[in-house]
Order: sequence, then C-alpha cells, then structure tokens
Amino acid sequence: MTLSIKTIEQILHAKRFGGVSNGTIDNISIDSRSLQNNEKTLFFALVGPNNDAHIYITTLIEKGVQNFVVTHIPDKCENKANFLIVDNTLEALQQFAAHHRSLFDFPIIGLTGSNGKTIVKEWLNFLLSPDFNVVRSPKSYNSQVGVPLSILAINQKYNLGIFEAGISKRNEMDKLEAIIKPTIGILTNIGSAHNEGFTNIDEKIKEKLLLFQHSNIIIYQKNSIVKALLDSNSKTFSWSFTDKTAAVFIILKPNQEGTVLQIHYVKTNFEVQIPFKEDASIENSISCLMVLLYFNYNIETIQNRMKLLFPVEMRLKVKDGINNCTLIDDSYSSDFQSLKIALDFLESQKQHEKKTLILSDIFESGLTNEELYSKVSQLIVANKITRVFVIGETISAFENKFPNCSSFENTKKFIIAYPNLTFGNETILIKGARHFQFETIVSLLERKTHETILEINLNAISHNLNFYKSKLKPTTKIMVMVKAFGYGSGGFEIAKLLEHHKVDYLGVAFADEGITLKNAGIKLPIMVLNPESTSFLSIIQHQLEPEIYSLKGLHAFLKIAEQLNLVHFPIHIKIDTGMHRLGFEEENINELISILQNTNLVTIKSILSHLATSDDLNHLEFTHYQINLFEKLSSKMLFELQINPIRHLLNTSGITNFPDAQYDMVRLGIGVYGVSNDLEEQKELENVSTLKSVISQIRSIQAGESVGYGRRFIANDSSKIATIPIGYADGISRAWGNGLGFVTINNQKAIIIGSICMDMLMVDCTKIDCKEGDEVIIFGKIPTVNEIAKKLNTIPYEILTSISQRVKRIYYRE
Ligand SMILES: *Cc1c(COP(=O)(O)O)cnc(C)c1O
Repeated sequence: MTLSIKTIEQILHAKRFGGVSNGTIDNISIDSRSLQNNEKTLFFALVGPNNDAHIYITTLIEKGVQNFVVTHIPDKCENKANFLIVDNTLEALQQFAAHHRSLFDFPIIGLTGSNGKTIVKEWLNFLLSPDFNVVRSPKSYNSQVGVPLSILAINQKYNLGIFEAGISKRNEMDKLEAIIKPTIGILTNIGSAHNEGFTNIDEKIKEKLLLFQHSNIIIYQKNSIVKALLDSNSKTFSWSFTDKTAAVFIILKPNQEGTVLQIHYVKTNFEVQIPFKEDASIENSISCLMVLLYFNYNIETIQNRMKLLFPVEMRLKVKDGINNCTLIDDSYSSDFQSLKIALDFLESQKQHEKKTLILSDIFESGLTNEELYSKVSQLIVANKITRVFVIGETISAFENKFPNCSSFENTKKFIIAYPNLTFGNETILIKGARHFQFETIVSLLERKTHETILEINLNAISHNLNFYKSKLKPTTKIMVMVKAFGYGSGGFEIAKLLEHHKVDYLGVAFADEGITLKNAGIKLPIMVLNPESTSFLSIIQHQLEPEIYSLKGLHAFLKIAEQLNLVHFPIHIKIDTGMHRLGFEEENINELISILQNTNLVTIKSILSHLATSDDLNHLEFTHYQINLFEKLSSKMLFELQINPIRHLLNTSGITNFPDAQYDMVRLGIGVYGVSNDLEEQKELENVSTLKSVISQIRSIQAGESVGYGRRFIANDSSKIATIPIGYADGISRAWGNGLGFVTINNQKAIIIGSICMDMLMVDCTKIDCKEGDEVIIFGKIPTVNEIAKKLNTIPYEILTSISQRVKRIYYRE
C-alpha cells in the first residue's frame, strides 16, 4: 500500500495541519514501541481508558515518524510533522480499513463464533492455498483494532481473504462487519466464552450473526436457536450430526487414525478421514469441509487434503535456551504478517543485546520472491537483528540481503552444521513454516529439564493489568509487585512485559530481587519493601529505591548517603497505620519530619502504608480507620516538609473495595497474576499460570492392593493408576494428597491417591481415557489456585509462590 497524505485526509475526512502535503505512507502502526516505525509510517494515536498514545508522539517524531492521525496536536509538536485530526482515532483506523476493503472485490470468508475461529482460519488457508492467493488475519487478530490491521494487509495480488471477528460485548460486530464485509460467513462453535458481555445466549448469537448481514452464504451447524435468529432472507449452507434436513448430514466413525466422516450431500455419499478424535477438532474440520463443498472441490481433492490437517499452535513461546540464551519459538507459521508480529514480540522480550533470527522460506502468495525478500530484509534491518540463519532453497538465494547471514538448503543441513555453530547470551527467534520442522531446532537449543512446567500466559497478564487499570482514575500510577519471583510466575519476563506496558513502578521485597532485575536490564524504578541495612550500599549502587520504615533505618541510610556524597537520593517512607508490620508510627512522625527538614541527602519519592484487611468487608471500619490515619499523617508530612510525593495505600483488593483511597498510585499484586479474593472480579480475570506435567506410567492394580508410602491407599476395586513426576519438592503440598486433591487429565478429574512423594504423585485414572505421556494439569483453569487454597485452608499467594525453581517456566503469548 502506498498512499498520499492527501488521499488519506480525504478518506478520513480529517483536518490536516503542519508538514508537507505531498508525503506518502506505506505502512500503518499503532504501537509506539515497534522498531518498524519509520518515515513512511502512518501512526494512529489510539486512546484507551488509561493509555493515550498521543504522549509518545514527540518521541516518535524524534525517531523519524512523520505522519499521525490524532485527536489533537500535542504540545510543541506543531509544524514538526503531518497531523490528521479526527474525532476518534480508533474509528478513523476502522474507517480507513473499511475504505481499503472496498477497493477489492474477491471472495472474503468471515469467521466468528466463540471457539475455533483461528484454527478454522489456519486450516482453510492450508486447504485453499494450493489454488488461491490467500490473505488472512495474522495470529488471532480479531478485535476492534486487530481486524482493521488485518484488513489493511490486503493488496491486489490476493484473490481470497479469510478474516476472523471476535466480540466480547454488544454493539461491536456492526463495526467489524463494515470493515470485513464477508461474502461467505462461517459460524464456528458457540460456547460460553464472553457470556458476561451479553444478557443471554440469544443476544450473543444475534450479535455474532451481524457479521453475516451482507454475506451471500452462511455456513453453520444446523440448530434451532441459530436458525430462529437468522434473518429469513439469509442463504445458508448447514451441516448436522442429527438433523437430516441439513444440507450436509454427517455420521462419525472413530478409527485408529482419528475419525471417518461419512458425508451425505446432494444424494452423494462419501467418506473423509480426519486425524482427530476430539469434538472441537471434528467440528472445526467440518467447517472447513463445508467451504470445500461450497467451492465445488471434487471428492478426491477433499479427501486428500482433509486427511493432512494438523494441530495448530498459535502461540509464541518464550523458553530458556542453552548457554543463557532465550528462545522465542514460533516454529509453526511463516508469512510476512506473522513475522512482523514475532519481531515486535522479540523486541519486547529480548533479554540480551544480541538478537538472532532463524527463518525458513516464507510462503506469501502474491508477491514475487524478489519483492517478498526485499520486504523481509527491510524488516530485519529495521529490527536490528544481529545475525540471521536462513533455511530453505528459496530464501537462501537471497542470503546477501540479510545481515551476518548463513544459509542452509534445508533443516537437516542446519542440524548437521549445528555442532560447529555457537549460541550464547542471545535472544533467538525461531520462525519457520510447519513442514520445515523447526521444532527439532527448538529442541536442540532448548535447555533440558524435567517434564513438569509452569506455563505463564503473558496475554493474560496484560489483560489483568488492563482490567485493574480500567478501575483506576486515568492519573493514578501503578506499581506492580513482582516480589517473590513475580508471585512464582517469573521475575524478569514479567518485569519486562510490565515495562513494555509502561507501568510506573515495580515493587520487590528484598534488595537482591531488585538487583537481579536491574542486572537483566530492567529500567523501571524499583522500590525495595524490606531493605536490610546491610544491603543499603548495593541498593544505591544499583539505583534501587529503598522503603524506609524506622528511625534506625533512616539514620543508617543517611550515614551511607553522606559518605557517598549523595544528593536527593529517592527513598520511600512507610507509615504504620494498623498493620503493625513495618512503618513509622504516629509518635515518630515529628522526629522523622525534623530529620528530613535538615537534609538534602535524600528526597521523599513516595509515602505509603499498607492495609491489613482490604479483602474483608467485615473489617470495614478498621480499614477506614487506617485510611484516615494515613490521610492525617501523610498530609502532615506534605504540609510540614512542603513536598508533593506520590502517596499510595491500596493493594489488589484495596483497588476493588476502596476505590476512593487510590491517592496517586496503587500497588497491584496478586490480581495481575490472575487471582482475586472477589468472586465477581475473578470472572473478569484471565488465568495466568498453568502447572502441567505428564503421565510417566500407568498400571492396573487389583482390589486390596495399595499405592505409595505407608500403604495409605488401598483399592476397593481393580483400578488404573497413573504416576506423575511432580511432588512436594516441586511445591505441591503433601496435604493435597490422600484423596483430597485432584489433577485434570484430558478434561477429567483424577483424584490424587496415597501420599504425595518428594518427586512424584499417583492418581486414580480408572475411568479416564488416557495413556502414558498424556498431559496432566495440576492447576490452572481446573482446578484453580483459589480452589486448592480453599481446600488446604490457605491462601492462593502461598500456592503460587511455593512452586519450586526446579519447575521450568515457559512464557507464551497468543
Ligand atoms: C505484596 C504487597 C502488595 C500487593 O498485595 P496484593 O494483595 O498481592 O495485591 C502491596 N503492598 C505491599 C506493601 C505488599 O507487601
């Protein structure tokens, strides 16, 4: 896309100010942090409830960006760039995308539903790309922002589009429909996701169906609810397992390789083998099959292609690599759009200066190889990739376009060369098309540990952070507590993500936690809650900021500050208002003030206190007493010292229950990790951590036989027992064994029987269809950390922070 600013001005009905009118743009951005922003970028300054991208414009101009869509021109930016002024920048982006869409008239498949959109989209791309030049949404870009960005990737080289639309509340689909204008609609599985945003299921389905209001055909699984809600003029192409009046009637026959679909369609009967057994994959396969039938594919082609469908991995995973490397594993897809996303992710997660890319041939229908790899090269250079390994015959021919590049004809050649290559202290993005089997490269580079892992969903952390942000006044700052290794979820990776989201502060308990983060390159200010006097020197050396909670501590700190000739070193003053843990008491305040009046060694960055019962409304009065005392003592300090520091009091449940006591900042902890004390609020949060293992062994035992130490379990009947390699040394409480706790295997509960051992536990899987090697969920969505904590008479904090460091953490983004 190359467009003049003049044209864009007209499309958006915007007012233009500043700069030159003969400029052109060739890419769109909404992310101020992307290294891909340049002088040909049109930057849309989106405004969210708590984020306003207008504040990044000055920096973006310094970085060379020249064209902005804004609601107003930020101070001192007049005449420094082109500004297109609109009422609402998100709507302008959507309008721009809708205009772009209107320039093309090839078939566009629009997908919506609660589950399966992304999988069906990826499979359709696989099934149809031998015959079409397909453009599709990258990853799961299906939101109010994601859809316009996806649509803007369309160009005249394509002849089929596949786009997904996701909504979470009312009145969102009309906007997405106007942008996608699908000619073919597919309704995938309607589950319970996002029910909160709607009064009932009918309303949700009705809203989703709006995507198809101008479609020529709607493909769906025939069912009476949807049928009743469809516009009577809509043309449908339906399928069913039970209703013979559906256009396509299907009977399922499970077999060794998966499932055979017996298809009855317009008097022809035929069979299609698919490699899946579970309901969701079967339904998604059928949605794809319906498109092939609608496009009049012949039976043989359908059979040949459908049997090759594959499980889809849409996530970008961060893993620990050998020699202190960090791996970003995206070894499943390779197209230009998803490369852009992966490179942005690499930048946001890079833990080393050195960035390496391992890249396969890219399958981009439409462009010539010369055009395509020139674009790829620009992208790699813009992202400051240190070195590149390219694998594949096509990309190898363009080797000289990439910095520090080595090329390999195929994955096997790379693996043969691998012992002579060196990898260390670098972040490595591994990105390849599926058939290159880059998973073998990932397994070479990955640090080996045992099979139990804690998976951390970085999107969920972002979601939870935004959820709490939305509860705050726009001016309230956020400190996120990352003490105790980020509540067990990981220190650096989470700090890096939070830095990316521009939170204001991080909080740790001890100096060494802060030092680890600073050494790893975290730039955010870090408050140390509980600094021992012996750590003051290293606190100062590492530019950490201590919380000072006693006269003794203050004197000790001032003494060191004086020796080091410090001026205005930032410190935080903690007042005890009733927690009785750490803090200056009311009777110390006058002395505190007089010491501070007479020194310029330190400066009071903030004043804080901590609530003892913010989660328990039975103690409402006590909390109000604490809030009042904090108001009184902190105001006194502000007045007498004539200072204006940040004041902060609330933790997660404080944010929920005492919104009026936000002051200037809140200290968000457990909520960002996806756990709330409040049942209603819990529904709004996304699960962050999933503790997973696998079945090591399965055995059958007879009635009367025992399992484990002390023979504490005796079977009543003949039973099937699975052994799982996770025990109390990994942080699973022994109290969770002996019939109290359970794990989830293939979506079914398996009770933990006998005593939990140091490194293993055993479960009863008599009634579960499972085999050795199958995945086991210890906690996550089922059971939740909250549920375990309740049954064990403790709190979720303890469960999360107990997971031992020998359990490998894997971070991923969807
Ligand atoms: C841990 C901690 C928090 C965060 O508490 P959550 O309940 O996890 O939100 C806030 N302030 C202080 C002083 C803390 O120690």
